[in-house]
Amino acid sequence: MSALKGRKAVITGGGTGIGLAVAKRLTADGATTVLMGRNLERLQEAARDIDGAIAVQCDVTDPAMVAQAFDTAREGGKIDILVNNAGIASGRPFHKLDYDEFRRIQNVNVDGVFHCTKAVVKDLMGGDYGRVINIASVAGLRGGPYISHYCASKHAVVGMTKALAVEWGQTKVTVNAVCPAYVETAMAENAIKTIMSNTGRSREEAVAELADMNPQRRLIQVEEVAETVAWLCHPNSFTVNGQAISLDGGAP
Ligand code: NAP
Repeated sequence: MSALKGRKAVITGGGTGIGLAVAKRLTADGATTVLMGRNLERLQEAARDIDGAIAVQCDVTDPAMVAQAFDTAREGGKIDILVNNAGIASGRPFHKLDYDEFRRIQNVNVDGVFHCTKAVVKDLMGGDYGRVINIASVAGLRGGPYISHYCASKHAVVGMTKALAVEWGQTKVTVNAVCPAYVETAMAENAIKTIMSNTGRSREEAVAELADMNPQRRLIQVEEVAETVAWLCHPNSFTVNGQAISLDGGAP
């Protein structure tokens, strides 16, 4: 397939989990990908396995580093697609949540999306095609216990998504959010370990607790998230704009 031939996609957090699966999937559709993250060695290792991919070190919380990384990314041609995927999570009851931890999550999940999206404005405006896809979460659509800080960050991302879709309605750019329930990655693994240590439950019970939030009783696979991102990038998906697409097996 070559729907994205000639398109360049930047994927933050592209060296692991969902971001890596997205990079592979967009490459299969013909795009060249730029993988960004803090761990350069891991990014380079991931990029070696993906046709045409390059690895660029970038901490999305650092505006100067973001500006420099995106300059590197646009060498040889402008950026067409931004997948704001870099994100972090933690679980903490609100009464034990301190302001530093609250800010740590917002800095990556919200400020990071702000800095990276700002960095591609000049690539996307005035062109004939552009996509911004934010990997939010079902926590961007509803609440849950022990994740008020994470929920706040992902609701902010969904809000920014909807606002930019309206603001850029007269351009060829679409801005959408993808909102998965638990996906089988390092992030979900951390949640499993937290449940085990806080409750004394077995690994099997902890996995079941996460899986049971999905009516299909399972953890989502990274390839499923990547498939939705690829669909949003397809030129025929232009009409889909400002959406927050739930990938949660039909949770009410
Ligand atoms: P993951 O494997 O832990 O990926 C997170 C990625 O973000 C890593 O590649 C990490 O790379 C990068 N990252 C973290 N902080 C960064 C920073 N300051 N600057 C640049 N990159 C940074 O987990 P994942 O599940 O694939 O998560 C990807 C996204 O999906 C996140 O936004 C997450 O909130 C969202 N999500 C995950 C789930 C789930 O259950 N797994 C569900 C819904 C939504 P470096 O360490 O190299 O920086």
